[in-house]
Amino acid sequence: IERQGQEVILPLKHGSEEFIPVSILSHGRVVTREFETLKRRPRNMADALSGTLSEGEIKRLGRSYDLVGKILIISVPQDLYPKRHKIGRALLKWLAVETVACKISPVSGEYRVRSLEVVGGRDSLATVHRENGLRFKLDLSRVFFNPRLASERWRLGQLTAKDRRILDMFAGVGPFSITIAKASSTTQKRILAIDKNRGAIKYLSENVKLNRAKGVMGVLADSRHMVSALHDRGILFDRIIMNLPGLSFAFVESAREVLRKRGYLHYYRLLKKGEESEVIAKELGTKFKIEQIRRVGDYSALSSIFVADAVKLA
Ligand code: SAM
Repeated sequence: IERQGQEVILPLKHGSEEFIPVSILSHGRVVTREFETLKRRPRNMADALSGTLSEGEIKRLGRSYDLVGKILIISVPQDLYPKRHKIGRALLKWLAVETVACKISPVSGEYRVRSLEVVGGRDSLATVHRENGLRFKLDLSRVFFNPRLASERWRLGQLTAKDRRILDMFAGVGPFSITIAKASSTTQKRILAIDKNRGAIKYLSENVKLNRAKGVMGVLADSRHMVSALHDRGILFDRIIMNLPGLSFAFVESAREVLRKRGYLHYYRLLKKGEESEVIAKELGTKFKIEQIRRVGDYSALSSIFVADAVKLA
């Protein structure tokens, strides 16, 4: 539909003017006009790729993707790998992204960074991600970030109103710490956010400023050493977040030592579906009471990331 001065012009199918009711025609007239073809965005991933890949190839590529800021992250199966740049360029037209990157390896190493290759758009993995009304600056070539945990971070933000001291043992660029700080109206809260990746702590400090988060202190350290130093000084926390799903079991004892009695532990674990209750109960032992275990994200067909909310008994 176009507008021209006081008039609107409605496109009609060829021949349809014969069927326009007289009542409408008495308020208007039939004119001849060339309408501009609208450039519409593709409706979905398959739509964006039609013309670049065959139907079978589109099916094999799948529909799963992640969006981190202005970066679209996809997985490309081995047989389509030679076409990855074509796929990347085609997907740039779909969502308003600047970069399309494809996964080269799963998250790995102690910093949990994923190897990604840019296959379309701007050749950079630095971006600003928006989540729960907050902004997180990050560079995926240097740091870990999982956009699928947004609602989990929001949930923790809502639980922490009464806490005074919180420890985020594997803080990354600060999404848990900053979400919690911003969810709270008190200025009394102190959140200690530790990470051993220098890049993560650099971005965490920038993100604290960017979001004007109060009470968050980023520390570049190995959590094991830092927690032991805190224990030596008798410092205790009301709540501890352990978001290192592949290895958090190795830090349970250190965390327990600096958690106050009746304090909460949020214990993230990457486990095979179905074995989570048994494994987590064993790892936390009898000194914790597990209140609930929830699945917070799928990792593969067989494994998921789970979180246990547990209270320290002794
Ligand atoms: N919580 C963050 C988030 O949600 O984005 C990051 C989670 S990521 C799975 C785990 C983080 O722990 C990484 O940033 C990694 O550098 C850090 N890390 C791994 N081992 C560590 C250790 N021993 N001490 C401190 N940080 C560690």
